Amino acid sequence: MENINCQGCGIHIQTSDPDQAGYTPENALNREIVLCQRCFRLKHYNEIQDVSMSDDDFLSMVSQIRDKEGVVVHLIDIFDAEGSIIKSLQRIVGNKPVILVGNKMDLLPKSTNQRKLTQWLRSEAKKAGITVKDVYLISSVKGHGITELTKAIEHYRNRQDVYIVGTTNVGKSTFINKLIEQTTGTTDVITTSYFPGTTLGFIEIPLDDESAFIDTPGIVNKRQMAHYVSGSDLKVITPKKEIKPRVYQLNSGQTLFIGGLARLDFLKGERQSFVCYFANELAIHRTKLQKADNLFEQHLGELLSPPDRDTLTILPELAEQTFRFENGKNDIVFPGLGWITIPDGELTVSAHSPKGVHVSIRNSFT
Ligand code: GDP
Repeated sequence: MENINCQGCGIHIQTSDPDQAGYTPENALNREIVLCQRCFRLKHYNEIQDVSMSDDDFLSMVSQIRDKEGVVVHLIDIFDAEGSIIKSLQRIVGNKPVILVGNKMDLLPKSTNQRKLTQWLRSEAKKAGITVKDVYLISSVKGHGITELTKAIEHYRNRQDVYIVGTTNVGKSTFINKLIEQTTGTTDVITTSYFPGTTLGFIEIPLDDESAFIDTPGIVNKRQMAHYVSGSDLKVITPKKEIKPRVYQLNSGQTLFIGGLARLDFLKGERQSFVCYFANELAIHRTKLQKADNLFEQHLGELLSPPDRDTLTILPELAEQTFRFENGKNDIVFPGLGWITIPDGELTVSAHSPKGVHVSIRNSFT
């Protein structure tokens, strides 16, 4: 295919992968003005569609912005902070101020302590080497927290550009569409706002005469659970409504299966209540630890589902990690799936998750 670039954002046009940046259906190549599908949708429907690219491609692409002035809004999914915080972010964006935004707040139960949640997000960002100016909790779907966030952006941006960065699936398009709705109010303000070839692959939504919101493609992070499940399983594991905590009283020697995607063995300790926070549709099974391996072998993909057939072809084996707790109320986090809260006290558990998707521990915020 000859070298064609999108006349909207300047990205190299390709016709093979609709989910990747630069995609255009073949029959659209004959048009007078060739646009990638993302620009096409924006132009005609005022709608942002997410495209993705690998970390490396992203790095080389956004290195262009490192030396520009502006603010970075790093959107993450609070259900998958580990999978959605971009570890190389500070290196990519240079010294620009970073506002960390935890999206999908509407899914958390009312008992959530927002202060503790914010603290945890700050510490996760710090672990990833990111210095954040501020942390905001929002729901792009419901609109919670968006007004406060836009005020903060206005404050920090100092009339400069705002770069919106996130991994795939964090809700970046939903968020930007909300911003478009709020900032433009009308329907076709954006259609005239292309800067051909200037910011390769970025889409700009004007804020004023000199500056814009700049949407960058979603980064694919292989540590995200979303990459190891089929589309239909992703629907099951992604919470759609506020999560209802499910409580299990367990004795040591008992196991919980989260579908067949994760597992928690209670190895040692007094009888405890384990509180599970997963999508309401995701089935949890309790069994004896002695029987757990057998159950897994015999019933994976049936009683223990998801995984469905498609997921089984891509899902890595479960890997096990053992944790000992002495005090404090803690969460055992299965990134991209949810978490299990355990009460204060001495106990030992072992957590199983697909290889590459690492289980972590945090102070509970519920
Ligand atoms: P992108 O890949 O980052 O652009 O993510 P999308 O905007 O396509 O969103 C991914 C999924 O998360 C979709 O199913 C959205 O409906 C959902 N989503 C996005 N924002 C929110 C939110 O604030 N709350 C909830 N419950 N779901 C959200």
